[in-house]
Amino acid sequence: MSDLVVARTRAELDAARAELEGPVAVVMTMGALHRGHASLVRAARERARSVLVTVFLNPLQFGRGEDLARYPRTLDDDLRLCREEGVDAVFAPGPDVVYPDGEPGIRVSAGDLGAVLEGASRPGHFDGVLTVVCKLLQLTRADQAYFGQKDAQQLLLVRRMVRDLDLPVEVVAVPTVREADGLALSSRNTYLTPFDREVALALSRSLRAGAEVAAEGPSAVRRAARDVLRAEPGARVDYLVLVDPVTLEDVPEHHRGEALLAVAAKVGSTRLIDNVPLVIGSA
Ligand code: AMP
Repeated sequence: MSDLVVARTRAELDAARAELEGPVAVVMTMGALHRGHASLVRAARERARSVLVTVFLNPLQFGRGEDLARYPRTLDDDLRLCREEGVDAVFAPGPDVVYPDGEPGIRVSAGDLGAVLEGASRPGHFDGVLTVVCKLLQLTRADQAYFGQKDAQQLLLVRRMVRDLDLPVEVVAVPTVREADGLALSSRNTYLTPFDREVALALSRSLRAGAEVAAEGPSAVRRAARDVLRAEPGARVDYLVLVDPVTLEDVPEHHRGEALLAVAAKVGSTRLIDNVPLVIGSA
C-alpha cells in the first residue's frame, strides 16, 4: 500500500507536488469515491509515474436548489480507497483554499456547448466546472488529467477548454464503470431508495436497447431507447438524445458513424445521467 500524502492547503500541495516524479496525472473528484473513480486512478497509474487525486466539492458548479448540502462527504473512506489504489497524493482543500477571495469574478465560459443538455437544465454548471478544472490544473501542474466518459459533456468541454485555451495537459477519457445490473456508478446513487434503484435501471436499459439497434440508424435507436423509458413512468426524463459527440447536435437520419446516446432523468429526488457512445450503421 502506498504512502499517501494528504494536502489541505496550497502550501501543503506545493510541498507534496515537489516530491512527485513526473509525468504526474491528476484525477479530479468531488469525493464519495467509488469504483468509477478507482478506475480513473488505475488508468492514470498505467501511464503516469505519479497520481494525484483532488477531492473538492466545488460550490461553483451547483445551482440553487441543487444537492450541494446533502452531497455525501466521506473523506476518511476516500483516503482509504486512494491508499488501496496506490495514489501518491490527495489534495482535499476547502472552498476558502480554492476561492480565497470568495466567488471568482473571472471565470471560464463554457460557451454554446455548455448551454445544451446538462447545461440547459443546470445554468452556469459548466462554467463552474471548467473554472475549477482550470484552477486545479494550474495548482497541481499535472501533465495528464483523467476524466470519466460517464460525464460525456463535461469530458468534451474539458477537451475543448484545453485546446481553446492552450492548457499544457493531456486529457485522457476512461470508460464508464457500471454495476453488474447496468447502473452506472455515481456518488449520487447513495440517494436512491431500493425502489428508486430499480426504477433507475431503466436509464442503462434504454441505452442498451438503443445500442442494440445501432445498425438500423438514428430513428431506430431513439425509438428503442424511448420505449424502454416510457415503460418506466417512475423515471422522469429530462432528455434522451442521440447527438454528434463533438457538436452535441442531434444526428440526422442519414448519419452513419460515431454518435452519443445520452439520457438524464429524475428518479425520486435524484437526478441521474448516463450515456453510451455508439457507431451508427454498424452492429
Ligand atoms: P465526480 O466525483 O462525480 O465529479 O466524478 C469525478 C470523475 O470521476 C469524473 O471525471 C467522472 O466522469 C468520473 N466518474 C464518475 N462516475 C464514474 C463511473 N461510473 N465510471 C467512470 N468514471 C466515473
